[in-house]
Amino acid sequence: MKISNKRDLKSVLESEGFSFKKSLGQNFLIDDTVCPRMAEAVSGENVGVLEIGPGAGVLTAQLSRACKKVVSVELDTRLKPVLEQTLSGCDNVKIIWNDILKVDLKTVLAEEFGDCDTINICANLPYYITSPVIMMLLESNLPINKIAVMVQKEAADRLCAEVGSRDAGAVTVAVNYYATAKTLFGVPRSSFLPPPNVDSAVIELTLRDKPPIEVKDEKHFFRLVKACFAQRRKILLNTVCNTMGISKDDFRSVLNKAGISETVRGETLTMEQLAAISNALCK
Ligand code: SAM
Repeated sequence: MKISNKRDLKSVLESEGFSFKKSLGQNFLIDDTVCPRMAEAVSGENVGVLEIGPGAGVLTAQLSRACKKVVSVELDTRLKPVLEQTLSGCDNVKIIWNDILKVDLKTVLAEEFGDCDTINICANLPYYITSPVIMMLLESNLPINKIAVMVQKEAADRLCAEVGSRDAGAVTVAVNYYATAKTLFGVPRSSFLPPPNVDSAVIELTLRDKPPIEVKDEKHFFRLVKACFAQRRKILLNTVCNTMGISKDDFRSVLNKAGISETVRGETLTMEQLAAISNALCK
């Protein structure tokens, strides 16, 4: 069933008495050109795809055509009758009615994609949980290859920024630790029903086999990263020492040994410099 244009989608939703919930980030795609491009980014022979938030199933149907199997996790059970209509005939799709942040993904992936060679993730993410979902997917050590997700344009700029550049934040460092990130294409707000207040972009995160830097203690590294970006425009020596409970003299000597200026600001540090500081403090 075709629902990728506004009239058809509206008619299906109205036939089931469905009304959008802003609190669940429900902005559904009504642009024919977007879903095929998203599906193409994750598709392939023998690929299984986990989708987050199928909504009315417009991307799900496209993924169903392009991949071996699709498992979609949706929180809003009011969408059951809608998806029954829109996904009829998509026999390789399974819907799990749950909160993506509460699902045991390791078990789900093992049980559902045992016969697939590769597992990818694809979603038009509900924007209120963009960062927690992306960090959960990256940190959980899941057997996934690639994540292609739609996020707000500003979030895309931050997630795909170069570490050390003005657009970077603590989340940029975290993403870079686990994956390589790039923006695939922009999507205007007019591509959604109802249109959100911001434009969007589809980003692709390809999981690394191992992190690009060697870190002695990951927990310490990420605590330092958070402290560095908490007051990003201030001099590191004045901000990090308090947060991390380090004396200024000790921190000065760490910076000097790593060849980093004492007046450096957190936002300008590279992955290697952050790792050098964390490793020196961890001794
Ligand atoms: N994929 C559809 C599309 O592109 O038209 C819908 C995308 S809409 C931006 C986000 C979807 O995520 C909604 O269907 C919403 O109900 C669902 N959702 C919101 N919070 C969720 C959560 N915690 N777990 C799973 N799904 C969630």
